[in-house]
Amino acid sequence: MNKPHVRNLPWDELDKIMKELGEPAFRSRQLFQWIHQKGITSWEEMTDLPKKLRMWFAEHFSIEGLPVIRRLASRQDDTVKYLLRLPDGELVETVLMSYDPPEGKQRRTLCVSTQVGCPLKCAFCATGQSGFTRNLEVHEILGQVLAVNRDLVSAGQAPVSNLVFMGMGEPFLNYENLVQGIRLLHHPLGLNISWRRICVSTSGIVPGIYRLADEGMPLVLAVSLHAPNDELRSRLMPVNRRYPLEELVAACHYWVQRTNRRITFEYILLGGVNDSLAHAGELVGLLKGLLANVNLIPFNPVSDGPFVKPSRNKVMAFRQYLEDHGVTAVIREEKGGDIEAACGQLRRREMRG
Ligand code: SF4
Repeated sequence: MNKPHVRNLPWDELDKIMKELGEPAFRSRQLFQWIHQKGITSWEEMTDLPKKLRMWFAEHFSIEGLPVIRRLASRQDDTVKYLLRLPDGELVETVLMSYDPPEGKQRRTLCVSTQVGCPLKCAFCATGQSGFTRNLEVHEILGQVLAVNRDLVSAGQAPVSNLVFMGMGEPFLNYENLVQGIRLLHHPLGLNISWRRICVSTSGIVPGIYRLADEGMPLVLAVSLHAPNDELRSRLMPVNRRYPLEELVAACHYWVQRTNRRITFEYILLGGVNDSLAHAGELVGLLKGLLANVNLIPFNPVSDGPFVKPSRNKVMAFRQYLEDHGVTAVIREEKGGDIEAACGQLRRREMRG
C-alpha cells in the first residue's frame, strides 16, 4: 500500500504525531522546517534529527518531491516552464516568471496548478480541451513550488516570492487542498509567503468565492471574466451556465465587502470576439460600484485553436474606453509565447507524444 505523503499533513497534525511519539516541541518545529522550508525529498537529509525518528517517519510517510522532466526557458522574456512528474506518472505544469527591475526587489512569481487537466472546457484554453484527470493532492501543490525553488537556488538565484494559482485546473474545484496548501506555504516555519503575495484565480465558481471570503486569508482574488454578457460568456466559458454573471458579480461584491480588498478581473481579448467598444461598454456597466481593476490580456494563439490575436488598435481602444469610464485597466502581454506558457499547452503536447 502507498504511504501517505508527509506534506499532506497540516501543522497541527504533524505536531500531534510528534507529541504522541514523545518528542519535545522544538523537534516538531525542526521537522516542519525540513519538510516545508528546506523542501527535502529524502528522510536521510534531516541530519540534525535522531536516526530513530527519521526511520519511524520513513516507515510511515513518503517525502518524495516532483522530478522535473522538462524545463523550457523562453528566449523572449524571463519565463521558464516546468513539466513535473507526479507519483502516479501524471504530468503537471508550472510556470515561473522573473522580474528583475534595475531598482527595487526581484520578483519570482510562480503560476501553480491545482488539477491534472480541468473539467471546465473554456473554449480558448489548452487544458480545458484535454479534459480532466484528477485533483492535485496538497503535497503536489507544494511540490511545484519546492521543485522550482530547488532549481533556482542551485542556480544561485532568489527563491519564489509570489504565487498565482492560475495554472492548470480550477482552484475552487479542489478547494480543501488549495486552502490547506496555501496555509502551509504561508506558515512562518515554512516558506512564509505573505498573503498579499498569493493570488487565487477562479473562472467564477461562485460558492468558492463566498467560502474563501470567510476564511480570513487576506490574499488577492482574481476572476477570469473574458466576456461582459451571459450569451457570449456561456459560449466561451461553459461554467457561466452554472454560475451566470449576476450571481458572479454578487459574489464579487460580497468578497470586497467582507475582505475590504479589490478584485482583479482577467479579460483575454480575442480578436473579433469580445474586443469591441460595445463589449467595453457592457464591461463598465457590469463592474459599476465594484472595487476592481481589469487586466486585459491580448490572446496568445494555440497553434490549432480557433481564436486569433486582437489588433493592437483594438486593444488600446478597449483599455482607453475603460479608463475613460472610471475602470482601472492595464494591458498584460502574455509571457513565454515561444514556450507555449499558457496553461496546459506543454502537457498537451507531451501527452500526445
Ligand atoms: S481556463 Fe482555467 S478554468 Fe478554463 S478550462 Fe482552462 S484551466 Fe480550466
